[in-house]
Amino acid sequence: MALRKCPKCELNYLKPGETICHVCASAMKRKKAAPVEEDEVVMCSNCGEAPAVKGHDLCEECLREQKREAELELMADKLRADEADMPLEEVVDDEEDSEDEE
Ligand SMILES: [Zn+2]
Ligand SMILES: [Zn+2]
Repeated sequence: MALRKCPKCELNYLKPGETICHVCASAMKRKKAAPVEEDEVVMCSNCGEAPAVKGHDLCEECLREQKREAELELMADKLRADEADMPLEEVVDDEEDSEDEE
């Protein structure tokens, strides 16, 4: 009777009745015993109430909030830059209007 090698690791020979070697068998057992720890749930570092989105340390809600704030900040920066560059036309219009009225 020829010895068969384990189809999984192809290193160890199978004992009669085995479909994978004892090394692979115990490895699989260990994997099964440990409940899906692979996508372990990380809680949001901001609110700590919702699980963080994969690859981030914030939950979906906080990420959205963060993005919104970043956008607002960006917009504010842009506005400030615009103001520094040129006087706001609207303000000029208002002044002209009030001058006409007076
Ligand atoms: Zn094996
Ligand atoms: Zn959060």
